Amino acid sequence: MRYDIAVIGAGPAGMTAALEALRLAPELNVLVIEKNAEAGKKLRATGSGRCNITNTGAEGYDEARVFLERLGIALRIYDNGLVYPYSESAADVAELFADRMEECGVELLYNACVNKVERNASGFAISYETKVDGITSTFIVEAGRLVLACGGKSGPGFGTTGDGYRWARELGHKVISPIPVLTSVECEKQGCENLGGNRARGEVSLWKDGEKIFAEAGEIQFTRYGLSGICVFNMTRFMRSGSRDLSMFEIKLDLYEGYIRAFLGLRREEEQKRVATYKQGETAESLLRSVLKEAIARYVLERADVDRELLIAELSDEELDRVAACVHGPSFRPSAVKGWKDAQCTSGGVALEEFDEATCESKLVPGMYVVGELADYDGPCGGYNLTYAWISGMKAGRAIAE
Ligand SMILES: Cc1cc2nc3c(=O)[nH]c(=O)nc-3n(C[C@H](O)[C@H](O)[C@H](O)COP(=O)(O)OP(=O)(O)OC[C@H]3O[C@@H](n4cnc5c(N)ncnc54)[C@H](O)[C@@H]3O)c2cc1C
Repeated sequence: MRYDIAVIGAGPAGMTAALEALRLAPELNVLVIEKNAEAGKKLRATGSGRCNITNTGAEGYDEARVFLERLGIALRIYDNGLVYPYSESAADVAELFADRMEECGVELLYNACVNKVERNASGFAISYETKVDGITSTFIVEAGRLVLACGGKSGPGFGTTGDGYRWARELGHKVISPIPVLTSVECEKQGCENLGGNRARGEVSLWKDGEKIFAEAGEIQFTRYGLSGICVFNMTRFMRSGSRDLSMFEIKLDLYEGYIRAFLGLRREEEQKRVATYKQGETAESLLRSVLKEAIARYVLERADVDRELLIAELSDEELDRVAACVHGPSFRPSAVKGWKDAQCTSGGVALEEFDEATCESKLVPGMYVVGELADYDGPCGGYNLTYAWISGMKAGRAIAE
């Protein structure tokens, strides 16, 4: 069977490419091949099931918004820029996409795992396997254009096992070695095992060979094995080392705000326990005192409703000593970034410079498009990665329809 377009992968990027091509050129016959039994398996898990669908600060946000609303997805836009479907249900979004694909005549092949992609005289030959009652059968379809939308390697349980890298390489493309990102970090035993289960607001910074290469404020979660939380997830995008050795990295935490909060609740038993758990630094007491005062001043300045004088007056020497001893930002040596199973995204992938930025079409293999997480793009948490999937899928779909 020959199609105008074959899309490998019914994730956000592939579904978008198919829908956008058919919106502009309804006469095209489009095949989407998906190894799972349903469309958008990973999409259903996004945003803890709520689907952080885009972000007002993401490149291409306006276009993504028009696309999503045109499909019928009402959006809920929060002040912090995070955007969700109004229902806050990722499953609703995935089902809507599947419905729209059926309505506009996309031919959907589920439970079909592509194992080979080749160029031929009329475009591309795609070989896929299906398994029925334990019997595996192989089929070949042909297509004039090919959209590779099979994702990266993060979350292999969702079907993304890095299959597209091999095909891209075989067709002559460069692949930047993929690493798991947006996940938690394991640290060398250095006190963090005592902190497991605690959370604190603060700033996490990443240092490489003594130079600060990343910093972000947020909620830091201490786990039995290390550090987690959105700001820690985002930090992992900067932890590419070229090997398993992460000894060139150091993670520092600036917990002023968290400590001050703990200080304010110091009389509460739980908070006292939490503060006492932190390891003391070796910095001179006088420095710690001044650091603490600075932190308090910063805290007060940021929150005009707090009575500065009252706050300072409440600081007994004993309390000050106690909190000061904890304010010294702890530092950690990462031993590993959690693997593919836990990662929300892949950093690395098919090198973008070999693709036309406006259309996502290969400069080496005309008629082949690479969209979504398979490409060497990764964004931070907050809807950026889905935005890239929508935008790259739209670019390819439009270019194909023209
Ligand atoms: C738990 C979790 C939560 C996340 N939350 C968010 C969030 O809230 N906001 C956000 O922006 N991003 C989030 N992400 C990231 C986001 O899900 C991805 O960036 C996005 O799904 C990538 O879309 P894609 O279409 O490129 O690939 P995918 O969604 O990975 O889809 C690729 C599809 O291709 C199929 N496939 C692969 N190989 C083959 C093959 N050989 N044959 C046939 N089919 C194949 C796969 O089964 C899969 O369905 C999250 C990720 C995870 C894991």
